Amino acid sequence: MDKVFAPWRIEWVEREKTNPDVDCVFCAFQAQDDDRANNLVARSDHAFVLLNNYPYNPGHVMVIPHTHTGEYGDLDDKTLLDHGRLKQRTFDALETALSPDAFNAGLNLGGSAAGGSIDDHLHTHVVPRWNGDTNFMPVISDTKVIVEAVEETYDRLYAAFASQDGTTAPEDGAVRIE
Ligand SMILES: [Zn+2]
Repeated sequence: MDKVFAPWRIEWVEREKTNPDVDCVFCAFQAQDDDRANNLVARSDHAFVLLNNYPYNPGHVMVIPHTHTGEYGDLDDKTLLDHGRLKQRTFDALETALSPDAFNAGLNLGGSAAGGSIDDHLHTHVVPRWNGDTNFMPVISDTKVIVEAVEETYDRLYAAFASQDGTTAPEDGAVRIE
């Protein structure tokens, strides 16, 4: 069976159900002080790294600028640079934590035709890939297994970010990138 690789289509489908009082979950998480519960693993000055609740693969994260916008052209220079640098660090941390064979990384821009479920706060998906991993999803189709995988991935990725130069790792929050 051939499978189409379309991880962007399975992100955050439970947004309204799980966060009925929040207009934008990405804005809410960056303002909250509950990083571990929110699966927010690293913070820089203008962006943060969030594990996807419905990962296509282990280590499927989103690198999200603080700015609430769906328009890439709205990001200012300091945010573009910070978001780009945080993507660099994210590839590096995923290499350390999970040793993938490859990565896919991309944005959904322009609304529902692009396939994303949150189109008003742009975010870069980073998906680690392993040779032969198109068979992975049926193996972890049970929700509980996915949740456990996300928690384990959080610990490994947290340690990997914390081992990078220029970071601090508070006991109770995301790794802070200076
Ligand atoms: Zn937002």
